[in-house]
Amino acid sequence: MATLTEEQTRQLRDAMEQRRVTLLGDIDTALQRMDSASYGTCIDCEVDIRFERLVAFPTATRCIQCAERREKTYVGGATPSL
Ligand SMILES: [Zn+2]
Repeated sequence: MATLTEEQTRQLRDAMEQRRVTLLGDIDTALQRMDSASYGTCIDCEVDIRFERLVAFPTATRCIQCAERREKTYVGGATPSL
């Protein structure tokens, strides 16, 4: 393991906790969308999101085109692309 100061370790733990909260929220949202039958439909253009994309990125709420457009608009966003 890299040599980390106590402060760096604390910051990393905070970052991981934040990731967990965000991820669990995204998963809850995806499950709710599944229950309401809106899962797998792009929230921007309403096309069906490719199944392969959903398998690799089950919390995706946008099709790849909209996700890429959004990433270019909001540079530095934390949304993983595929
Ligand atoms: Zn779209």
